[in-house]
Amino acid sequence: MEEVSDEDPYDNALAQLASVAEIVQVEPEYLEILKHPRREIVVYLSLKRLSGETVTYMGYRVQHNNARGPYKGGLRYHPDARLNEVRALAMWMTWKTAVIDIPYGGAKGGITMNPSDLVTDDLERLTRKYVDAIERNIGPEIDIMAPDVNTNPQTMAWIMNEYSKLTTHQVPAVVTGKPLELGGSEGRIAATGRGVSICARQAVQTFLHKDIKDVTVAVQGFGNVGSHTVSTLMEMGAKVVAVSDVTGGALARGGRGFEIPFDAISEIAQRDGSVSRIPGVEQISNEELLELEVDVLIPAALENQITEKNAGSVRAKLVVEAANGPTTPHADKILTRNGITIVPDILANSGGVLVSYFEWVQNLNRDHWTEEAINARLEFKMTKAFNDVLRYSVTSDLDMRKAALAIAVQKVASAMRLGGWH
Ligand code: NAD
Repeated sequence: MEEVSDEDPYDNALAQLASVAEIVQVEPEYLEILKHPRREIVVYLSLKRLSGETVTYMGYRVQHNNARGPYKGGLRYHPDARLNEVRALAMWMTWKTAVIDIPYGGAKGGITMNPSDLVTDDLERLTRKYVDAIERNIGPEIDIMAPDVNTNPQTMAWIMNEYSKLTTHQVPAVVTGKPLELGGSEGRIAATGRGVSICARQAVQTFLHKDIKDVTVAVQGFGNVGSHTVSTLMEMGAKVVAVSDVTGGALARGGRGFEIPFDAISEIAQRDGSVSRIPGVEQISNEELLELEVDVLIPAALENQITEKNAGSVRAKLVVEAANGPTTPHADKILTRNGITIVPDILANSGGVLVSYFEWVQNLNRDHWTEEAINARLEFKMTKAFNDVLRYSVTSDLDMRKAALAIAVQKVASAMRLGGWH
């Protein structure tokens, strides 16, 4: 693998692609296409805020590849959102939709800003300006957005409404992760975390030869993905011993897991704006959480959390990547050398885009499926994707990340070849 900076997610995504270039049966001309996004849109959004000042924000939409179907990917609001981060996230979406085997390509969007600095009215008008600026390049058959870091069903409702106004009819399928009342899907909010938990359960059985009830778990991040991962794992009987968010973490010593139910943890997190204040637990930092002696570590916050600097101190046996790009390529090598198995992001967190796909299908058919039907399909597809990657990893003697990536790259290249992209 070529030497890369641990800081730049796009360098990391390219290094991952380079790491499978010699393994996959793909012509160099197709690999060359896959190194670059098909299209990048950069927009300057000038907003007159309610306070009276006018601020210009940068927005991005990167469309990596659409050989297997329309572009698909989340929208992120974050002060560190930048073009190279969005490029990496778009490429990872292309791999993810291929691994979980749904007919989509990969894309991602972002606006560089801290949403907590904006009142709701400003946030809504900024979101609508973003849609106005990229309207011609999105749509149910072109590019479909969904929530990511600091965006949520309300953000998707504004996007759907603005796009529908511009196209003069209601278009629910332009976004997924919408509120139920606007055509959202049952089970979508919990889907990413539920999928992560299914992967964790399968990985625990396969690699640790244990039942999920018999393992300890630490989860970094308590947003959409982290909180639903914790909730589903607790439902499955796993011993969740530590959780954290941007303010810090909480550790229940003794290895038995939190004694208060998930709903109480969630209520405290919402009331205090922090999980670190759960009564009767020890406060720890995010750095300490990553280094706890647990069976399973689940990073569910942001990229670049396990790096060359701290990978040597990770003491978990399994790392299940709920966030996108939480482990840098350098760290990956260190974890692997230390005998730690990684279930990669493009497999582990693909439950979100899978149920987004179910939502899109329901919208296009003007249909509504039950939560039981959604969860049963999620369970089936996640287990199948996990087993496909595992089988490929065993037969090709590759780690799970390389196996998942090799499967994805070959599927996307095959679609380009059949379509005659060259
Ligand atoms: P979110 O905004 O709902 O939550 C993010 C969480 O991370 C919050 O609890 C926040 O406090 C915490 N956090 C932020 N910075 C942190 C830091 N430096 N250290 C520790 N914690 C920190 O976002 P989300 O939707 O839960 O997304 C989390 C990750 O999962 C991202 O990498 C995202 O791309 C990925 N992901 C999300 C989805 C989805 O459906 N929302 C799907 C697939 C992957």
